[in-house]
Amino acid sequence: MQFYDPEQAIWRVKREFGEHGGVTPSIERSSTFTVLDPSTMPDIFKGIRGPEKGGCFLYSRHFNPTIDVLDRYLAAMEGTELAVSTASGMSAIASALLQICHNGDHIVASNTIYGGSHALLGDLLPEMGVSATFVEAADNQAFEAAITPKTKVIFTEVVGNPTLKVADIRGLAKIAHDYDCLLVVDNTFTPMMISPAILGADIVVYSMTKYINGAGDVIAGAICGKQEFIYDLMDLHRGRVMLLGPTMDPRVAFDIIQRLPHLGIRMREHSRRAMAIAKRLQELGAPVTYPGLSSHPQHHLIKEIINEEYGYGGMLTIDCKTREKAEDLMSILQNEERFGFIAVSLGYYDTLMSCSGSSTSSEISPEEQNRMGLSPGLLRIAIGFTGNLQARIEQIERGLKKTGLV
Ligand SMILES: *Cc1c(COP(=O)(O)O)cnc(C)c1O
Repeated sequence: MQFYDPEQAIWRVKREFGEHGGVTPSIERSSTFTVLDPSTMPDIFKGIRGPEKGGCFLYSRHFNPTIDVLDRYLAAMEGTELAVSTASGMSAIASALLQICHNGDHIVASNTIYGGSHALLGDLLPEMGVSATFVEAADNQAFEAAITPKTKVIFTEVVGNPTLKVADIRGLAKIAHDYDCLLVVDNTFTPMMISPAILGADIVVYSMTKYINGAGDVIAGAICGKQEFIYDLMDLHRGRVMLLGPTMDPRVAFDIIQRLPHLGIRMREHSRRAMAIAKRLQELGAPVTYPGLSSHPQHHLIKEIINEEYGYGGMLTIDCKTREKAEDLMSILQNEERFGFIAVSLGYYDTLMSCSGSSTSSEISPEEQNRMGLSPGLLRIAIGFTGNLQARIEQIERGLKKTGLV
């Protein structure tokens, strides 16, 4: 297996110190930048000068020095040439897809993706003349069969939200490239655990709102890829990030820069705890799904592509069959057992629980939910790392017993 160590890579890039030698970078909040010589300004507009060409900055919707630091760290972590941070995960996904796809083009997407992405591809993009076909996440042949001469992109998550089906990134990269398409991967659930670009993906997108930031206090996204593609996104005439304008705030960039170095430690701990809880639930006979369990249908596939020291991630599901049962269990786990909080999102240090069908996947129709294998009683649990692990296991055990699920 090709092994990539993102923790090492972070510091392989130029380390950025603060203006006065601070160990943290300075926050550059200026919206606009001055030049000594007026002739520099037209050169920046023409792209002759820029952040990498003489350290010239123009205006913070274009490039900003603090955001630029985060972008370089992300690219190093991901093993891509460059990255660009955005104001949200959705703007990262939308800008990347809109940069590649024009009116008349087509996308083949996994059917087990975040509800917002499903709505973007299934409802919004068709209004702009870009269509999508959704296929089973773990079925490479279905992806290939759905490709048409108009297809420009294959889009998938690695561990799909919320069914936790695993996509074969290497196989999909090969299919995409055989048909002159780009493979765009949303790696929000699996940072550091999986390095999609190393496995052949062309573009990696993130909601940094989740694990990468990890503190539940910012909305942020990122697009990682080849330098040429990132420059296209920032192009003054056609750049989707430049012209649609989902610009990150430099203060947010600074916060994420401070949290990126302990992402690896956090991922390991989310994974360690999720694995221990999933194993115990399985012993009890609970209807648990977790990619680290050998009972998971794509366990062997994920084992093969994972950077194993980070584990199998912090997400697990319990199929309570009905929404009522899932709500009973969540209520007991929050209000009686103090196991976690009823809230959407993930990657937080406390455990967050939601019933996907009626929350983060509610944009997806009941028929489509059924087709993607999403039960109305599927409880998605994003395991946190606060509290004593043994006590946490006892809390969830009691919750399941009280609900009659074991
Ligand atoms: C949350 C999420 C998004 C959307 O990100 P925002 O930061 O909320 O815009 C996209 N993909 C996945 C997998 C997510 O979990």
